[in-house]
Amino acid sequence: MVKSGSDNLDDRRAAERSRMVEDQIAARGVRDPRVLEALRTVPRHRFIPGADRAEAYEDRPVAIGCGQTISQPYMVAVMTEWLDVDPAGRILEIGTGSGYQTAVLARLARHVITVERHRDLSDAARKMLSSLALDNIEFVVADGSLGCPGRAPYDGILVTAGAPRLAQALLDQLDEGGKLVAPVGGRDEQRLVRVTRAGDQFRQEFGIGCRFVPLLGAEGWPGTP
Ligand code: SAH
Repeated sequence: MVKSGSDNLDDRRAAERSRMVEDQIAARGVRDPRVLEALRTVPRHRFIPGADRAEAYEDRPVAIGCGQTISQPYMVAVMTEWLDVDPAGRILEIGTGSGYQTAVLARLARHVITVERHRDLSDAARKMLSSLALDNIEFVVADGSLGCPGRAPYDGILVTAGAPRLAQALLDQLDEGGKLVAPVGGRDEQRLVRVTRAGDQFRQEFGIGCRFVPLLGAEGWPGTP
């Protein structure tokens, strides 16, 4: 059968994606086979608008509109691996952005609830993810710095914007044994933090340094609502 131009393009993107996983992610120590498979599968270029799409498989964040960015693939991989997603679990993501991280989570967990403060970004992500036939995702437009208490508790919480601190409201929404992964620190630079809940104890571990756009809101940085 003769392949159409778009089939060839999809093949080329898939090859770029495999290379991205090998060179940027596996080579830097991410091992979880489920995470690597999800990153090989989700078509990252489709989450990037227009002219910047050619940069989809490069090792850096890319602009997605509303002054926001799609996270660097390596950072998505590290955070997802650290969250240690239970296939039967429910995950809360704060900062839908392009929906790329959401898609990776939706391939690993039973259900994902994702919160974004920009309605335009949330709507665009919803369209993209339904076109990929990922139907285990709920989209919420709200200030996610306080989590999403109406749907709590969660087996995992992933924050993809830089927080000034770990809000107790967010920790309270973790289920027993649940994990939260978030970039915490200054407005421009943060460090990944993982919190694991055991009863009323919240064990903290510190990971790599990172640079996320700021988490704005009641428990985030001050900024336009
Ligand atoms: N995970 C995204 C990265 C998004 S960048 C991706 O893969 O594309 C961080 C996102 O967090 C931005 O879209 C920003 O608008 C959003 N954000 C910032 N503060 C927020 C808040 N308080 N509640 C919900 N979303 C917030």
